[in-house]
Amino acid sequence: MDLWIRIQSALLAAVISTALAVTILLRNRRNRLYQLYAIFNLNLVAWYLSDALFVYAGAGYDVLGKLRVLVALCIPITAFRFFQAFVSDRSVLSDRLFRIFVAVAVVLAVLVTFDLDREVEFIPRAVYGYICIALYVSLYFLYRRYRRLESKVERTRLQYLMVSGGVAFTLALLDYLPSIGYYFFGNILTILFLYFLFQIILKLRVLDLYEFLGRAIVMATFSFVVAAILVILVVWWRKELDLFIFNTIIASIVLYILYDPMRSFVEDRMNHLLFRERYEFGNHLDTLRRQLASVIDVDDLAPLVLSRLEASRRVTHASLYLIDEYGVAYTLKGHVGPPPARRVDVVAHNPFIRRLRDQGVLILENQEREKRLLEEHAAPASAVEETDNVLSTLDLVHSGAVFSFITDGQVLGFLSLKDERLREAYSSEEIRLLLGVAAQCTLAVENSRVFDKVRDRDRLAALGEMSAGLAHEIRNPLGAIKGAAQLLEGGDPDPEMLKIIIDETNRLNSVVSQFLDYARPTRKSNLVPTDVNRVIEATLDVVRADNPARHEVRFRPLQGLPAIQSDPEQLKQVLLNLCQNALQAMTVSGSSGVLSLTTRLSEAGDHGFGTVRVAVTDSGPGMTDEVRRNLFIPFFTTKVRGTGLGLALSLRLVRNLGGNIEVASRLGQGSTFTVVLPVR
Ligand code: ADP
Repeated sequence: MDLWIRIQSALLAAVISTALAVTILLRNRRNRLYQLYAIFNLNLVAWYLSDALFVYAGAGYDVLGKLRVLVALCIPITAFRFFQAFVSDRSVLSDRLFRIFVAVAVVLAVLVTFDLDREVEFIPRAVYGYICIALYVSLYFLYRRYRRLESKVERTRLQYLMVSGGVAFTLALLDYLPSIGYYFFGNILTILFLYFLFQIILKLRVLDLYEFLGRAIVMATFSFVVAAILVILVVWWRKELDLFIFNTIIASIVLYILYDPMRSFVEDRMNHLLFRERYEFGNHLDTLRRQLASVIDVDDLAPLVLSRLEASRRVTHASLYLIDEYGVAYTLKGHVGPPPARRVDVVAHNPFIRRLRDQGVLILENQEREKRLLEEHAAPASAVEETDNVLSTLDLVHSGAVFSFITDGQVLGFLSLKDERLREAYSSEEIRLLLGVAAQCTLAVENSRVFDKVRDRDRLAALGEMSAGLAHEIRNPLGAIKGAAQLLEGGDPDPEMLKIIIDETNRLNSVVSQFLDYARPTRKSNLVPTDVNRVIEATLDVVRADNPARHEVRFRPLQGLPAIQSDPEQLKQVLLNLCQNALQAMTVSGSSGVLSLTTRLSEAGDHGFGTVRVAVTDSGPGMTDEVRRNLFIPFFTTKVRGTGLGLALSLRLVRNLGGNIEVASRLGQGSTFTVVLPVR
């Protein structure tokens, strides 16, 4: 074999190993694993250089030869130390073996340095044997770890490592087996193996073999294309120095311009040819990102994202959660595959939400790995518990990877994905694309909030205009009717008629007042410390006084309810309206019923606030789905003499107080309207 090939491949390997060592140290100099990786690399660099020098000098077993052997003796030690740290093996066996290796290396080093063994042929063999044994023992430690692992993903990762390490070590060792003769494959494979290790430690997640292969192929193809351009432009004129320099510059400019488009073209083609499924997944995600740009209604978000993901056939489970209005829980907006949890409570799943907020994306295998490391390093129970909590939430939402929608440090929602069929999780490239999708979802959620506000404002503005006209049209004749009726009252009129006139005018007046109330820009609430139980009692006094059908009225207050900042008058108005609706609903159903009120307190969440919940429950007829859907829409009413403004106005008032109204109803059994108010 041409000696120059050996020298060149060794030099190339030295350059790449140095680059890997420097790069990893630049990432973090204090990380122990990184340090050991760098030391292992630098040891190999020393080996490549001393080997190249030895071959170049054509030296025999003299100083250079000795130096080379001494460097080689260190390799098993640095390799073993690195693998020990990599699999976090702190067993007595591995420590003992390490000491044995060091001892053997020292003995051999002394023998080599001082030429103590006369029979020179023996030493290289002993060194060779020692290196072989030590390297394979290092791999055996990977295997030991592999056997004890439960996580499928971690096992895969070690499997890849063992196989690639075995092949690289064997070929490298074969290169130096005297009877076979030197080839350079060992060096190249060792470098590939080192790069593989580099990726694995940096990413702390399974390096997808396909992704790695894909990258290697793309890189190789790209290098060939670049080399071809350079050769075509440069080689022809290499005999004339001036032209050579000129053409080299031209070639560099051409490459500079072509670099980016060519790289993406080669990547695209290669991915298309080799990894069709992944390529198509990328395309699906691109399309999804474009479609998301035009989503303004948050209700369209989940169906769009989930149907696209389902169509990509790269997920077996997917779900989308968005935070509810009080910030106390994330509710499921849609899912693909078996149904996950409907709600993720912020308090109960606090560690999950916190990590999601800090890291943006959570990958199941990383969390599993973290738990394993914590256990191995005997971390405090609270840390293990926290990771356990995160893992159980991931399990609850059927997730392999969770992507969050974050704005201003608040998690608005998240997308959870899993592909059960694959042994590996999503590749880094796919995670990058999915992060893009999550960013678009965040925008869509934000936009929809803004959009909701704008829509609300427009609607109110239109109503405001209408109401001004309406009020004039109705109020003027009303005054006249009422005046006339009151005059007639003193004469000899039909009392029945008069009553009707007065009742009707009162009613019309109340319609107009309600309408104006609704249409007027929201009055600023007069926030004072409010005892909600007291407000309810006061409301019920009024309700009881106007309860002709004699329905039973109950109130079960929560004792010790804290005072909240609210507007008692507005609150009373809302509760009165809800109670009247309830009484009216029960009266319609004929028999006498029960109106019951309760108060409850729910705890503060991480991003939200605690809430006081006032439930107004009746035993009336309940509502059909259609009624429920239209409940809060102004002018929607099922009553002959209803205005359809009561609930719309109530909701507006409650929203203005920072709260909301929730509705639950069962046909034939009754309804519950719950006023939820923030504790501030
Ligand atoms: P109005 O009472 O003037 O009709 P609301 O906005 O208060 O206007 O109510 C709208 C509609 O909601 C009612 O017409 C009724 O159909 C329905 N509704 C409200 N509360 C209840 C309830 N407790 N049970 C059944 N239906 C109800």
